[in-house]
Amino acid sequence: MAAIHMDGKALAAKVKEEVAAQVAGMERKPGLAVVLVGDNPASRVYVNGKKKDCAECGIYSEEYAIPAETTQQELLELVETLNGREDIDGILVQLPLPRHLNEKEVLLAIRPDKDVDCFHPCPPAGVMRMLKEYGIDPAGKHCVIVGRSNIVGKPQAMLMLRENATVTICHTKTPDLKAECLRADILVAAAGRVGLITGDMVKEGAVVVDVAMNRNEAGKLCGDVVFEEAAQRASYITPVPGGVGPMTRAMLMENTLYAAKQHGKQ
Ligand code: NAP
Repeated sequence: MAAIHMDGKALAAKVKEEVAAQVAGMERKPGLAVVLVGDNPASRVYVNGKKKDCAECGIYSEEYAIPAETTQQELLELVETLNGREDIDGILVQLPLPRHLNEKEVLLAIRPDKDVDCFHPCPPAGVMRMLKEYGIDPAGKHCVIVGRSNIVGKPQAMLMLRENATVTICHTKTPDLKAECLRADILVAAAGRVGLITGDMVKEGAVVVDVAMNRNEAGKLCGDVVFEEAAQRASYITPVPGGVGPMTRAMLMENTLYAAKQHGKQ
């Protein structure tokens, strides 16, 4: 069986078009502030992508690229200023922060109604949207999630539960990962380990979603799933790149639009 490739790039373009159409009809454009501390090259790529998405959607964006030596106090003051700005609906502090800064304290300082990266966590929301687009209903299915981080694995489990899936979460202390994965109707890989999910871990006909964004030895972007093998057994599969990644970015645009609409009501 050859799996259907779930095209996150095409779907993300559609979502962004929908956001752009709504923004076009708004008197005050939504505003997103992106804060980048230091010069992590991967973070720079993500921030550039977000700025491009904003431009495409008609969302006003501001970038704060501040030095790696910025103190906790200075960063908190910047967040505070952005919290008070009426033209800024969303604040995104690009992670990871340099070691000397306390990430948790900074994220907690963002006004909850402006925390666009958090109120519908972007990667898991992107996964759910993609399943919906392809007519895959998690209700009654067994969903196995590999990874239990606060930004991907755990919120993904919550969203799957909300859609009435039966959920198993695996991590490094799971004794038999293969056996767990083989029970999955929907397998979500979010471990950040190249080649972790091989074809023989995929149940015939399963839906395979690869959230990971890893670099292999050659420096090429890849997921956790050995794609060619898994695609032989899966019914649907997301590629990396071009799967969950673009959807994550599109969800940020939707969240920013949502925040602006909420602020418009206040
Ligand atoms: P993380 O914080 O490092 O968490 C990884 C999770 O996977 C942990 O819970 C870990 O278990 C588990 N894990 C690692 N190796 C494992 C193994 N061999 N067997 C079973 N479980 C294993 O990573 P993250 O921030 O959640 O990100 C995960 C991946 O998603 C990364 O590749 C990241 O780049 C990607 N990501 C993609 C997007 C996107 O837009 N597509 C957004 C965010 C992140 P323990 O808890 O036991 O350590």
